[in-house]
Amino acid sequence: MLRAMIEPQRTDVAIIGAGPVGLFAVFECGMLKMHAHVFDALDLPGGQCMALYPEKPIYDIPGYPEIEAAQLVERLAEQAKPFAPVYHLGQTVTALSPETAGGFRLQTSSGTIVIASAVIIAAGVGAFGPNRPPLEGIEGFEGRSVFYLVQRRDALRGKRVVIAGGGDSAVDWAISLAEVAARVMVVHRRAKFRAAPESTARLEALAAAGRIELVIPYQLHGLEGADGKLSAVIVANLQGETKRLAADVLLPFFGLSMNLGPIAQWGLALDHHHIAVAPATCMSSVPGIFAIGDIAAYPGKLKLILSGFAEAALAAHAIYPLVHPGEVLHFEYSTMKGVPGR
Ligand SMILES: Cc1cc2nc3c(=O)[nH]c(=O)nc-3n(C[C@H](O)[C@H](O)[C@H](O)COP(=O)(O)OP(=O)(O)OC[C@H]3O[C@@H](n4cnc5c(N)ncnc54)[C@H](O)[C@@H]3O)c2cc1C
Repeated sequence: MLRAMIEPQRTDVAIIGAGPVGLFAVFECGMLKMHAHVFDALDLPGGQCMALYPEKPIYDIPGYPEIEAAQLVERLAEQAKPFAPVYHLGQTVTALSPETAGGFRLQTSSGTIVIASAVIIAAGVGAFGPNRPPLEGIEGFEGRSVFYLVQRRDALRGKRVVIAGGGDSAVDWAISLAEVAARVMVVHRRAKFRAAPESTARLEALAAAGRIELVIPYQLHGLEGADGKLSAVIVANLQGETKRLAADVLLPFFGLSMNLGPIAQWGLALDHHHIAVAPATCMSSVPGIFAIGDIAAYPGKLKLILSGFAEAALAAHAIYPLVHPGEVLHFEYSTMKGVPGR
């Protein structure tokens, strides 16, 4: 009933996915006077760069001999900013359907409805979602004391941090946070870690030096605290014996699930779980719906950020006549037209 009352918002272009390629599509659309709404299942922009490797240097972004993934995302968001995109973060686009009057209606998991003249799907490998540990009441702590991604290491300075998991993320973050956190405890249900051998060796060396506490083989059992503020994490071993770890923050790193999910139901021609597009325009099998970045498939496709950037430009130019019907697009360089506010 409440959902039926939500007023749809209108925009020129709806961009599904705020990964590096979706962010650059905001800029490309903006340069052609097309306003964008951007959706992402994650709470923050950046897609794989932020979810999987924020602190890793990337070496093949033109003009940057080396740039950390998180820094690239920051730059892309800054480049998109003059075009005032509207972000709908923490929301999965669950439905996409044509409007009878033209354009498309998108609906999100939070009930937001947006009507757009054209749609760009920059959904990477699908909507990211954390694999949540089944702990009673965990939702109440999420975003305040329980985090599935670390955006800024410094936010955890001086905190007592429990990291759960045995893979690369758990081990890499334990090593990194040992430099700033008051206490780092790593809970893993096995004695062996699955991370890269050099990282595991570093973790064990830090543990031997007393900088990291390995709580193994234990698994998460419960949380203590109130009003979203954690006071302790309860862990249990295979015999069911429990232990209380006084903590301010829990970082469960059990991987991210990636789910093409609803996109597969939108009637678009697919090619091995990717959206088949025409390489010159990035248009899908449905006129008005475009796909760019990792999710787009065409012969010779390279899944690289730089290919996604070029695809964003192609799609924006192909969309222009849909948003500005009857207007002739005169090709101009950015050096000729500049950007708002500069
Ligand atoms: C460890 C690692 C290192 C890499 N190194 C490099 C490198 O050096 N150079 C390089 O060029 N590339 C590199 N890549 C690949 C690069 O990260 C990807 O090519 C790039 O992220 C693709 O960008 P994208 O915007 O298309 O998709 P993504 O980054 O995957 O972003 C897609 C976003 O769409 C969202 N989404 C999906 N479906 C929905 C939905 N229905 N509703 C709402 N949101 C949705 C997802 O949550 C996600 O945030 C690397 C990848 C990894 C994992």
